[in-house]
Amino acid sequence: MKKIAIIGGGIIGATLANYLNTEKFEVTLFDEGIGQATGASAGIISPWLSKRRNKKWYQLAKDGAAFFPQLIQDLALDSSIYSACGTLLLREESSLLSLAELAEERKLDAPEIGEIRLLSPEETAERLPLLREHTSLYVSGGGRLNGRSYLKKAYQQAQQHGVTVVKEKAVVTRQAEQWQIQTQNQTFLVDQVAFTSGPFVKPLLEPLGYIVDIRPQKGQLLSFETPLKNSGDWPVVMLDGEADLIPFQGGKMLLGATHENEGMWDLRPTEEAFHQLVDGTRHFLKDPTFFQQLSPEYLIGTRAYTSDFAPFFGPLEDDPSLVVASGLGSSGLTTGPYIGYLLAQYFNTQNWETTHYQKPIDLYVHK
Ligand SMILES: Cc1cc2nc3c(=O)[nH]c(=O)nc-3n(C[C@H](O)[C@H](O)[C@H](O)COP(=O)(O)OP(=O)(O)OC[C@H]3O[C@@H](n4cnc5c(N)ncnc54)[C@H](O)[C@@H]3O)c2cc1C
Repeated sequence: MKKIAIIGGGIIGATLANYLNTEKFEVTLFDEGIGQATGASAGIISPWLSKRRNKKWYQLAKDGAAFFPQLIQDLALDSSIYSACGTLLLREESSLLSLAELAEERKLDAPEIGEIRLLSPEETAERLPLLREHTSLYVSGGGRLNGRSYLKKAYQQAQQHGVTVVKEKAVVTRQAEQWQIQTQNQTFLVDQVAFTSGPFVKPLLEPLGYIVDIRPQKGQLLSFETPLKNSGDWPVVMLDGEADLIPFQGGKMLLGATHENEGMWDLRPTEEAFHQLVDGTRHFLKDPTFFQQLSPEYLIGTRAYTSDFAPFFGPLEDDPSLVVASGLGSSGLTTGPYIGYLLAQYFNTQNWETTHYQKPIDLYVHK
């Protein structure tokens, strides 16, 4: 039986582990649990209103969002993990009209976008009583994914499906025709390796002679336990500006997220982040001091970006036994599960064709 090692159990690695054919492969997933973007993420799944011009990225993000119903079924995700709660976009009326047009256009080949409705200020406040009256655009297909709970469930399912999970840092070296995976306590020899380690693909691949186009970016998010216990059905709100508001069940609410290029690998919470996110939200709230009165838990992760902000994933051209995936930036909860699924199809069938989703991989990883 051939052996596969997955280095990195964020959303890509954990999903990949679930879709690999464990009757054909012996699979080990390694994760050291540091700087995990997935566990720190905001959870917004709503790519259709993005104004990014990269068509390949949009195709991937759109298909990534459309993949969720299958994912929910295959991994038995309940509504505490994923909820199709809809998305509200708060903007001035003039820009909402053009966004609504874009949404209608995109709905032609993305029916999962669902209902698209311009809401009056009163209707907006009705949908989410925490907000003051403001015009908005509502799309019913938007969802929210709890990154931490997703990983917990995906690890459980993968283990039930025969995958071994090793919660240790892994170092990879070549050993003749195989790959050696060294952790503090164990040594493994495998035939194929998937590097799904977020920004850490760079320090992992460089000793193997590869130049990798990845830079780390720090992201901070605030998680509040509020007394608003009926928040489970509220939509995710994309506010005008940096901050987004993501209500979860039982009064839990996230405010996120910062994008700190100079923060790089740093995982320390800062007061500046609190002010940026809380002050950025005040203006949209019925009670502008609502979040100020509560003390949050900080969620902090490291995003991976390429120079053109596009993700890359798949087998390397010079060595198909090495598979990489990274550069998901700030939309990896949306694209990550689908990328994990596509990588599994590669291992299971050895066929690979994704030119409609990305540029050639050697633009990002080469010797
Ligand atoms: C604050 C914040 C908010 C976000 N909000 C959203 C959002 O609302 N919507 C959205 O779509 N996306 C969002 N994102 C982006 C999304 O979270 C990421 O793009 C996605 O989670 C990346 O997944 P990944 O599997 O590539 O990497 P990660 O989740 O970073 O996982 C990589 C894993 O590899 C492990 N690893 C690294 N090196 C090693 C090693 N040598 N040995 C063993 N393990 C190793 C790490 O410990 C880590 O667990 C957000 C990100 C952040 C930081």
